Amino acid sequence: MQTKAYAAAAARAPLGPITIDRRDPGSKDVAIEILYCGVCHSDLHTARGEWPGILYPCVPGHEIIGRVTAVGKDVTKFKPGDVAGVGCMVDSCRTCDPCQHDLEQYCAGPHSFTGTYNGAAKGGLPNTLGGYSKQIVVEDHFVLRIQHKEEDLAAAAPLLCAGITTWSPLKHWNVGPGKKVGVVGIGGLGHMGVKLAHALGAHVVAFTTSDSKRQAALDLGADEVVVSKNADEMAAHAGTFDFILNTVAASHDLDAFTKLLKLDGTLTLVGVPEHPHPSPSAGVLIFGRKAIAGSLIGGIAETQEMLDFCAEHGITSDVEMIAMKDIDHAYDRMLKSDVKYRFVIDMATLD
Ligand code: NAP
Ligand code: ZN
Ligand code: ZN
Repeated sequence: MQTKAYAAAAARAPLGPITIDRRDPGSKDVAIEILYCGVCHSDLHTARGEWPGILYPCVPGHEIIGRVTAVGKDVTKFKPGDVAGVGCMVDSCRTCDPCQHDLEQYCAGPHSFTGTYNGAAKGGLPNTLGGYSKQIVVEDHFVLRIQHKEEDLAAAAPLLCAGITTWSPLKHWNVGPGKKVGVVGIGGLGHMGVKLAHALGAHVVAFTTSDSKRQAALDLGADEVVVSKNADEMAAHAGTFDFILNTVAASHDLDAFTKLLKLDGTLTLVGVPEHPHPSPSAGVLIFGRKAIAGSLIGGIAETQEMLDFCAEHGITSDVEMIAMKDIDHAYDRMLKSDVKYRFVIDMATLD
């Protein structure tokens, strides 16, 4: 089937309309009419060719919420009319050790997991094309149930990436009551990190480079806010954190944050900057048995758990709705940290 979409034709080319092919739904597939798609910084890194191996035309978008239009004969979890979500993955080998343990994002099969965009497509198509489009067809295992109220659907879309990418490390490193937790970079991921760490009962400190986000970060649920450019404010927290989640999308000095960890503390990176961070100081890590770790989105079962938790606790993203044609302007604003806190595309504007 053919569907309208928005694509980058080449790195650094502005995005524009395109017509793309979606496979006909197979027996395990769910066909979805996309209502909303969040705008992740990974979309920008990809569309503008900041990461290696990008195939064009590139249709980004992996924070997808829509309505089911058709299901294959073996699908029991969904029926036409249901609201459904699709995040960063649309396939994996399903048989390797990580896949068998609900960790599809770390699939060790021959092709790793299949990204919702810029992954290897099924059915002879060259590369997967993402959520900046009207329709998508995805195998049922990779489709999520959405329990949020109808009026919250646009604001729930960013949970499919920003939500799970912060939830998974917070849960893995046991963030909860009695823990002092930092969230660095109050953008799309970071603002969800603050909300979720707060909901999990931790003492949350937001680190921002933007003076203008001081009050806003408190409103999101932070107990304290530190403007990370201010050395005195940083020094006041030296050696006190159990865990720090770093969501920054640009290269920067990590020692400033490892210094704030206490004995056995962990700094977990989720940002994937175009240029590498300067090498961290071994001494800072050694004196304190500290760790720097990484974390990739989250598994499908864990994504469902996070979505259900958010629906139950009334948690959504703070979003600014945009029209599809304004995507390049949204990317430029994102680069200036000028978004509170996630752009979401109203897919009706693609018509
Ligand atoms: P975003 O909305 O642009 O937020 C990033 C935030 O980082 C900015 O709002 C800003 O917050 C801060 N920042 C930006 N430039 C900075 C600089 N030079 N120095 C210090 N802080 C800076 O981006 P996002 O969508 O949250 O994505 C963040 C990163 O995570 C991207 O690299 C993205 O590709 C990656 N990502 C990874 C995964 C994963 O699975 N690991 C999943 C999704 C996204 P302040 O104004 O508060 O300083
Ligand atoms: Zn993302
Ligand atoms: Zn696998």
